[in-house]
Amino acid sequence: MKCLIIGSGPAGYTAAIYASRANLSPVLYEGLQPGGQLTVTTEVENFPGYPDGVEPYQMMDDLRRQAERFGTEVRSGVVTKVDFSVSPKRVWIDDATEPIETDTVIIATGASAKWLGIKSENTYRGMGVSACATCDGFFYRKKVTAVVGGGDTACEEALYLAGLCSKVYMIVRKPYLRASQIMQQRVLNNPKIEVLFEHNTLELTGEGRVQGADLVFRKGEPDEQIRHIEIDGFFLAIGHQPNSKVFKDYVSLDEEGYIRTIPCTPKVLKSGTDEVLPGIFAAGDVADPHYRQAVVAAGSGCQAAIEADRYLQTL
Ligand code: NDP
Repeated sequence: MKCLIIGSGPAGYTAAIYASRANLSPVLYEGLQPGGQLTVTTEVENFPGYPDGVEPYQMMDDLRRQAERFGTEVRSGVVTKVDFSVSPKRVWIDDATEPIETDTVIIATGASAKWLGIKSENTYRGMGVSACATCDGFFYRKKVTAVVGGGDTACEEALYLAGLCSKVYMIVRKPYLRASQIMQQRVLNNPKIEVLFEHNTLELTGEGRVQGADLVFRKGEPDEQIRHIEIDGFFLAIGHQPNSKVFKDYVSLDEEGYIRTIPCTPKVLKSGTDEVLPGIFAAGDVADPHYRQAVVAAGSGCQAAIEADRYLQTL
């Protein structure tokens, strides 16, 4: 095989469109969440080319059909083991005994938002619960929302929402914010944002969609208190986890687990070095701690396919 693409978000499918049009006959493995992170949002309104917005499933289906039209073979399965020390590279799917052998691999496995682990978060997913204010904030204009987390992402999301909503709560488990000073100041100076320090979320409430949240203040302390807030939207911003674990022995990861590449290229660095790992490319959120946008992921998928083609020409 010339080109194996792992992941079925905008990065993986865009890589597939370019790789198939370059006659690389790519095979794309969908992974655990076909369609990727976008499929957990309600509507996509910020991807260029959809003036009326688009349902995430529709957009991912469009991308998939576009990739298949040029000859991409889409398969379901999850990569469980790799060996990038040999040529061709070896990749095992679903713990199979025999690996797939491929000259190039495009890693587009994305990142997963961290979730709190409470039951109602799943019940209301897409019905008032979101892990992306930039994607979904627009639906909460003039409404009341809450953001969980005290890091830079949570502050950014709260500030973004404050530009749209009538009020934004920040639910922070510690007595302080972890975010950079400048972000903290912006949040604390914003009259629309109320920071609830030392609060944890017990459960969300509402009929059919989120209408409130039960919180606990200073859990386990003598002055512990239960508090209810009325909200229309609940945004998680407690960090992202790049899906890079299976590659860790071969590729260089930063301290958060994002795949390190040569800046502004999809060329992956070899584990423990600043040297390029030949034939391995990374695209989308698995290598992007900064932007996490579908359109950026799509752009890097295009770059990865072009680089894979160039690499194949050198073999
Ligand atoms: P962080 O890991 O920095 O922050 C996560 C936040 O979520 C912390 O406040 C943490 O609390 C809280 N949290 C984690 N788990 C839970 C839980 N189960 N319940 C309640 N709260 C929880 O993640 P970010 O996504 O904010 O940032 C990741 C990296 O990206 C950071 O290095 C950040 O600086 C950077 N970044 C930079 C930006 C910028 O410069 N503009 C924008 C966005 C991100 P606790 O503090 O108690 O651990």
